[in-house]
Amino acid sequence: MTGQIPRGGAGHDFAAAERHRGPAIPYPGSNNPGAGQWSSQRMSHDCVADYKRFVMTDGEGIRCSLYVSGCPFHCLDCWNASIWDFRAGHPYTSALEEQILKDLSQSYVQGVTFLGGEPLLNTGVLLPLARRIRQQFGHTKDIWCWTGYTWEELQREGESPDKRELLSLVDVLVDGRYVAALRDPLLQFRGSSNQRVLDVPASLSQRSPVLWGRMHDLVRQIPDPTPNLRRSAEGND
Ligand code: SF4
Repeated sequence: MTGQIPRGGAGHDFAAAERHRGPAIPYPGSNNPGAGQWSSQRMSHDCVADYKRFVMTDGEGIRCSLYVSGCPFHCLDCWNASIWDFRAGHPYTSALEEQILKDLSQSYVQGVTFLGGEPLLNTGVLLPLARRIRQQFGHTKDIWCWTGYTWEELQREGESPDKRELLSLVDVLVDGRYVAALRDPLLQFRGSSNQRVLDVPASLSQRSPVLWGRMHDLVRQIPDPTPNLRRSAEGND
């Protein structure tokens, strides 16, 4: 699923008259939907491409990651193009759901992460799962979600209510398309600088995007903490 760099980016802008759709959007290297144009009900086949237990890459802490199938954004250079098809992978099953809940019950697991594909176009799978996680674990386990939608797009009039409901159950949202021209491998949890890691409860309560408070992107210029030691070892003193 990873490692391939296909040429994507059909670049259809279906909402060309709209403004204020979020950082770097519209992006000519992806499809840009109008409000409510795409929905899980019409597009999803309730398929998942992968489930990974106890990973440390998809958010904070040790997590369980569910990769749902299908994404119509078709960003240029998407690394998961093999699961753009909503029928990729295999059908989600109740057995897998029980396994996820069992894995989440481990004390060292911080939470679950929804990735894809496009999670907000697979709410038939993720809404019931997220509701069960809240019922069973309350807020002792957190829920992270990656999406190609921007926060602003999700707030548009006419967007489908299932997306908003899933958003209300999520703690941290990584939003926006992958924009190849803005790629930066030193960013934490995201591939391009237009994407944001958002604190969802704070963003909902303030009605505008609020960045998650524990970000620490890597920096290019790392100061030398031991200049004297180094100089002395190199014999320059
Ligand atoms: S939104 Fe994400 S999964 Fe979808 S095409 Fe863009 S990079 Fe790939």
